[in-house]
Amino acid sequence: MAEDCLFCKIVAGEIPADVVAESDVAIAFRDVSPQAPVHVLVIPRDHYANVAEVAAAGDVDVAGLFRLAAEVAATEGIADEGYRLVANTGANAHQTVFHCHVHVIGGRPMGWPPG
Ligand code: AMP
Repeated sequence: MAEDCLFCKIVAGEIPADVVAESDVAIAFRDVSPQAPVHVLVIPRDHYANVAEVAAAGDVDVAGLFRLAAEVAATEGIADEGYRLVANTGANAHQTVFHCHVHVIGGRPMGWPPG
């Protein structure tokens, strides 16, 4: 657990979150400021600043993030119509919380490329 990390505190249960799914390596909870009818964040239980740090740590957490994201898409009912996975990484991508997270966004059509 990293000191002063908001998402570590959610993993530890010190800050409440609307948890929708869990696994050994990851948890999924609703984004507090949803940008679509379905907007869930999937995060590793262990602290990594971004997706590159997760990748450097080995295969288990990377696979666990995507496995839980796919599970969330299915249980939220957006797997068939389509959804978007986003891992903002660094300043240009507008990462604001520096505990790796994958946004699962769906329930409406989305444009491409992103703005
Ligand atoms: P990013 O800009 O990719 O770093 O996304 C961070 C996301 O975390 C934003 O979509 C926020 O709305 C979301 N967020 C911040 N605080 C919380 C919280 N306490 N519970 C749930 N989502 C949060």
